[in-house]
Amino acid sequence: MSNDCIFCKIIAGEIPSKQVYKDDLVTAFHDIHPVAPVHVLIVPNEHIPSVAAVEETHEAILGHMFTVARRIAEQLGVAESGFRLVVNTGADGGQDVFHLHMHLLGGRRLGRLG
Ligand code: 5GP
Ligand code: ZN
Repeated sequence: MSNDCIFCKIIAGEIPSKQVYKDDLVTAFHDIHPVAPVHVLIVPNEHIPSVAAVEETHEAILGHMFTVARRIAEQLGVAESGFRLVVNTGADGGQDVFHLHMHLLGGRRLGRLG
């Protein structure tokens, strides 16, 4: 856990969130400022700052994030209609919170990337 990290505090339950899933490796909760009808953040419980800090030892966690994304997409009813997974990385990537996270977006037709 990183002391100044908002997502570590959410994972620890020190800051409230609308949680949708939690297990030993990952936690998922609704984004506080949703940009789509479904907007969930899937985060590793371990404080990994960004994809730029990913190591081979993280591969089980990173793979698990996709399985959890599929489960949440089913749970929230967007698995068939489709959804987008986004991992912003660094300044140019638009990353604001430096605890790695996957956005799960769905529930409307999303525009093209770029
Ligand atoms: P980034 O731009 O780093 O990829 O995305 C960070 C996301 O975290 C943003 O979509 C923002 O709305 C969300 N966020 C920031 N602070 C909080 C918070 O305290 N609670 C929740 N649920 N989401 C947050
Ligand atoms: Zn953190």
